Amino acid sequence: MLHTATSEQIRKGLVTDVYFERTEKILREKGIDKQVRAEFMAKGLPEDWSWAVLAGVEECVSLLKDFPVDVRIMKEGTLFSANQPVLEIHGKYLDFGRYETTLLGFICQASGIATMAARCRKAAGDRQVVSFGARRMHPAIAPLVERNAYIGGCDGVAVGLGADLVKIEPTGTMPHALILIMGSTVEAEKAFNEIIEPGVKRVCLIDTFNDEKMEALNVAKALGRDVFAIRLDTPSSRRGDFNKIMEEVRWELDLRGFRNIKIFLSGGLDEYHILNYNEYADAYGVGTAISNAPVVDFSMDIVEIEGKPIAKRGKRSGSKRVLRCLDCAETRVVPVGLRTAPCSCGGDFEELLTPALSGGEIVTPLSEPGEIRDFVIKQLNDVQL
Ligand SMILES: [Zn+2]
Repeated sequence: MLHTATSEQIRKGLVTDVYFERTEKILREKGIDKQVRAEFMAKGLPEDWSWAVLAGVEECVSLLKDFPVDVRIMKEGTLFSANQPVLEIHGKYLDFGRYETTLLGFICQASGIATMAARCRKAAGDRQVVSFGARRMHPAIAPLVERNAYIGGCDGVAVGLGADLVKIEPTGTMPHALILIMGSTVEAEKAFNEIIEPGVKRVCLIDTFNDEKMEALNVAKALGRDVFAIRLDTPSSRRGDFNKIMEEVRWELDLRGFRNIKIFLSGGLDEYHILNYNEYADAYGVGTAISNAPVVDFSMDIVEIEGKPIAKRGKRSGSKRVLRCLDCAETRVVPVGLRTAPCSCGGDFEELLTPALSGGEIVTPLSEPGEIRDFVIKQLNDVQL
C-alpha cells in the first residue's frame, strides 16, 4: 500500500544507488576488498546557516550495529559547521559501501529538520514552539519529523506517534473543523472544556468566524480562568498587520483582567517571522518550515585506504579529529596523531568525534531524546541565528 521501504529492506542495503551495487559486483569479482576509512561531512550548509544540528545518529548506529566496522560519530544534537566531519567509518569497503545512500539519507534530512527546529527555538527565546508540520510530509516518516523537531528544541509535537517516540504527550486542541461543525467558537470551546481531560491546556482557536479581538473576548468571558491561550492561525494575507492584530487582542484582554491568557500563533511561520512577532506572541506552532526544512548536503568520502591517507581532488585526506573548546566553543579540525596547540582562550578542547561502535559493538550508549534536546538548547547559547 505504501510507497516506502521497510526497515528490513533498508537494513539489507536495498535502498542504495545502483552504482554502489555495480561497484560491489566489480570489487567482489576482482577479489578486491580493502580496509578503508570514510568520513561524512558537509562542504556547505543550506541558506544562510552558519551552523547545523546533527541528527539521525541513532538510526546510523542502529544500522551499523553488528557490522564488522569501527565508527566514530558526533553525539546526536551536536552543533557543527561546514567542513567538520560528523561521522567516520573504518572497515572493509564491501562491508558498508553500499549503505552510503542510506546513511546519508538518515543524517541529511534529520539534521535539516533538527536545525530548523533549533533556529525557531533560538528565535523564540523562552516562548513555546510546537511542531505542527507532520501533514506536510509522507505519513510514514511523521514520527521521524516529530522526533527531530523535538530534539532540535521544539517543546511539543502534534502527532501522537512522534510524541511517543520522544516520550512526551502530544500537543494540540482543535482544528477549524470542530468549530465549523459546531457552528460557534464559544460552543466548541465550551464542549472542549467539558469533554477533554483537565490536564490538557485550553488553547482556543479564535479566528474561524469573527474578528480575532471580539472572539478572544467572547471565549475569555465564557471560559474565564480556564483559557490558557488563544490561538491565531495567521492567514498569510493578513501577515502585514499581524503585530497590530495581536497588539489589539492583548490590549482588550489585559483591560478586562485576562493578562494570564497567552497568545499562540501558527500558520506559515519560520524563524524570521518568529523574531518579528516576539513582542506579542507567547507561543508558536511551526509547520512546513520545520517538517520540510532544507536538507544538509552531507557526502561520504574515502580519506584512507589500507592505512594510507588518500582523497579525491579538493578533499583533505586522512583521519581527523574535531576539537571544540569547552570555554569559548572554538572548533578545529586536525589530523589524528598530530599534537595540537591549546585554544587561544586558554580553555581545554573536547573531542567531538567519539567512538560509537567498535567491531559492531555499541561502545557509547545512545542518549535519550530529552537529553539530546537539552544538549542542543545549551549549545544555542554559543551561537547566533
Ligand atoms: Zn577557547
